[in-house]
Amino acid sequence: MEDRFGHHISYLRVSITDRCNERCQYCMPHEEQDWLPRSEVLSYEEILRVIRVGAGLGISKVRVTGGEPLTRRDVVWFLEELARIDGIRDLGLSTNGTLLARPLADGRTTAQAVRDAGVRTVNVSLDTLDRDTYAKTTGRDLFPDVIAGIDAARDAGFEKIKLNTVLMRHRNEHELWDLAAFAHERGLLLRFIELMPVSTTEVLTEDNFLAAGEAKRLLEYRLGPLTARPDIRTNGPASYFEVPGTGQILGFIGAMTNLHFCESCNKLRLTCEGKLRPCLGSHLEFDLREALRDPSMDDADIARIIREVVARKPEKHDFRENYQPGRKMIAIGG
Ligand code: SAM
Ligand code: SF4
Repeated sequence: MEDRFGHHISYLRVSITDRCNERCQYCMPHEEQDWLPRSEVLSYEEILRVIRVGAGLGISKVRVTGGEPLTRRDVVWFLEELARIDGIRDLGLSTNGTLLARPLADGRTTAQAVRDAGVRTVNVSLDTLDRDTYAKTTGRDLFPDVIAGIDAARDAGFEKIKLNTVLMRHRNEHELWDLAAFAHERGLLLRFIELMPVSTTEVLTEDNFLAAGEAKRLLEYRLGPLTARPDIRTNGPASYFEVPGTGQILGFIGAMTNLHFCESCNKLRLTCEGKLRPCLGSHLEFDLREALRDPSMDDADIARIIREVVARKPEKHDFRENYQPGRKMIAIGG
C-alpha cells in the first residue's frame, strides 16, 4: 500500500491492551486508571483478523505493544497464531521487560516462550540504571525484574534485542554513557528517544525535554565523534551512529527535532479497542471494531477501510504544531 506522499505501508504496530503494571510519568502518570471494559477491547481473534487482512494488503512486519503486552492473558498463544499468518515475516514485541523472566507452568521463562512463539526481536524500555530513578520514573520498584528480564531475553536467543531509553533532562542525561556501556557489554542495540507530547502534559515541559542532538553531543564528549551510519535501517525512524574504536551502534529517535522524521514512515497503528491510526502524532483515527463486529461486513470491507486509512495518512506528524495530546501513549500503543 502506498499513501498520497509515497510512504510504503508495510508495518503495523498493534496494541493488545491499555493495561500496565507500571506507571511511567510520560506515558500514564496517574495511579488511578480508567481501564477500558473488556468488551471494548478487541479479542485476539479480532486482532488476528485485522492482521490477516493487512497481510493481504502488504503488511509484512508487526510489532505487538501496549500498555504492557505481557500483562494480557494468553499472550503467548496469540503470538504463536500471529507468527503463523502468511506474509508476516517480521514479528517484534515491545515490553517494559519486567515480566520477561517470569516462569511459565511448563518451566520456560516468558522470554523463551515468546521467542519460541516466533517473535524475532524484542524492544525493552530502560531509561536508567539507577534503581531509585527507575522507581521514580516508572512508579514501580521493578528495576531488578527488568535486569532479570533482559538476561532472560538474552538467554532466549532473539535475533535482536533493542533497548529504548526516553531522554529526560535532570533524570538520565548524566547516565547516557553508562547506558551505552551497559548495552555494549550485553550486545544490545540502544536507541535514545525524544520525549513526545503523547501524555498528560505535566512532565512534558520544555525543561524536561532533552533533544537527541544534545544527547549525541553529551555522548561524544566522552566517546569521541560518532560516525553516521545511514546504511543501518531498522524499519523505523531511528538515525544510527557508530562509536569510534568499539564499533558500537547507537540510535537516536528525534521525533521532535528531526525534520525528516516522517519521510520514511511505513507504519499504521491499531489501538487495543480497534481504532486504526495512520500517525502517532495526529488525532486522526478510524474505527474498525464496529466493522469487525458487524456480521454483514466481510474481509473485503475491512480491507477497504484499511486502504481508506492509508489514503488519509498525513504527510507528517503534528507534534511541532503545538500538538495537544488527546490520548495518552498508553491508550495508543507506543
Ligand atoms: N509497555 C511497553 C514499554 O514500556 O516498552 C510497551 C508500550 S510503551 C507505550 C512503548 C514505548 O513508548 C516505550 O519505549 C516508552 O518509553 C515509550 N513512550 C511512552 N510515552 C512516551 C513519551 N511521552 N515520549 C516518548 N516515548 C514514550
Ligand atoms: Fe507501561 Fe510502557 Fe507506558 Fe511505562 S511506557 S506506563 S511500561 S506502557
